[in-house]
Amino acid sequence: MGIATIDPATGQAVKTFAALTPAEIEEKLDRADRAFRSYRRTMLVERSRWLRNAADILERDAESLGATITLEMGKPIKEAAGEVRKCATVCRYYADRAPEFLADEPAETDAKFSYVAYHPLGVILAVMPWNFPLWQVFRFAAPALMAGNVGILKHASNVPQCALAIERVLMEAGFPSGTFQTLLVGASQVEAIVRDDRVKGAALTGSEPAGASLASIAGDCIKPTVLELGGSDPFIVMPSADLDAAVRTAVTARLLNTGQSCIAAKRFILHEHIADAFISKLVDKFAALNVGDPKDPATDIGPLATPTILDEIEQQVDACLKVGAKAPTGGFRLDRPGNYYAPTILTDLPEGCPAYQDEFFGPVALTFRVPTLEAAIDLANSTEFGLGACAWTTVEAEQKAAIERLDAGAVFINGMVKSDPRLPFGGIKKSGYGRELARQGIHEFVNIKTVWIGD
Ligand code: NAP
Repeated sequence: MGIATIDPATGQAVKTFAALTPAEIEEKLDRADRAFRSYRRTMLVERSRWLRNAADILERDAESLGATITLEMGKPIKEAAGEVRKCATVCRYYADRAPEFLADEPAETDAKFSYVAYHPLGVILAVMPWNFPLWQVFRFAAPALMAGNVGILKHASNVPQCALAIERVLMEAGFPSGTFQTLLVGASQVEAIVRDDRVKGAALTGSEPAGASLASIAGDCIKPTVLELGGSDPFIVMPSADLDAAVRTAVTARLLNTGQSCIAAKRFILHEHIADAFISKLVDKFAALNVGDPKDPATDIGPLATPTILDEIEQQVDACLKVGAKAPTGGFRLDRPGNYYAPTILTDLPEGCPAYQDEFFGPVALTFRVPTLEAAIDLANSTEFGLGACAWTTVEAEQKAAIERLDAGAVFINGMVKSDPRLPFGGIKKSGYGRELARQGIHEFVNIKTVWIGD
């Protein structure tokens, strides 16, 4: 598939785009490099003003930008404008807080005066996925631009109109020409861009193979990277939990964005005393969901973004069913045009089936029973991923054990894992490294410069 908008609800090609030629890429890199030389000298107060303008534009255009998201990757329209508004919050957060995060930090040494300064690195490449096509990019762009870096975006090939819209928003907001550019390029064109001397670092959000490939090329060139990769987040429920609240949250935690979220709760690890009750309530809720046209505001679950994702989720579920797993609801693709898969719950998963290791990137909840919290944590930690985790319990000792022993970049107690501009976001193990958002996110692509001044 080339760079194109293909409506996931119908399978129809809407618009195709030509990938940039090497000469066009060269022109854009040159522009970015030249933009950096003057942009790095702009004042923080100016950058904040532009970022606040961007927030205003995002709010003004939330509905139309949301419609573009829905058209290109099938997000239910009732969630899409919310994604755009969330981008405004990250712009405002860094517009307000970056001056504090980037301020010089005095250090007591033998110098007359010494301090740590945070200076920009230059042109940073962002390789981004389609699942939150605006949010993923703005959470990179807002801190990068505030820090004085310049951004170039290689977005997923199925969301070109979102990619172009992001550049338009930032340019309309007043950022100087060349400080943020969308490059319509395929994955095979990324290597040459990473290797280009003008590019000083790269962030990738996406799959493990893409992350490993980009990081190995960047490593070869000694360039910093941040990787936000996949996850198979556990959702642990203990007997003391408020079961109805846990079930209600479980539906959103698993099915938001039709289940295509890195931090979606994917494995429901249930204490055996509440497992039957939890599953039965969850089945009722899944079965009652409205699956259909993502452009319809009444739709809860839309199509998957591409036919490949649909095939993959179908194969994963079939492999589990083949070895004895049960599907009390769902377990099949829908017989209609578009990439639709029924909201599915799997139980009785035999050890060794894909559910124990793989990421299920779609509307499929995997359920497991355990006799103790100890067993729940062991199972939770038994994948290669370590993005988020949540545990539902009102017992303080259990909360403490979950926080201390769950191997994940984030642990939420009695709530679902979510991203928030005020909290760092990222994973461990094969979920990646580095952090986005919060103070930690803006410090990823800066030169942490030591300054020592003698008499
Ligand atoms: P993907 O195939 O890795 O694509 C993500 C981006 O990487 C796209 O722009 C893609 O371009 C590009 N890409 C693919 N292969 C590449 C390569 N070898 N070199 C350089 N760039 C390459 O990921 P996906 O399957 O679309 O997205 C789903 C995955 O992303 C899931 O595993 C999900 O958990 C993860 N994700 C993680 C986070 C997080 O914050 N941790 C957030 C969202 C999603 P093309 O589209 O042109 O192939």
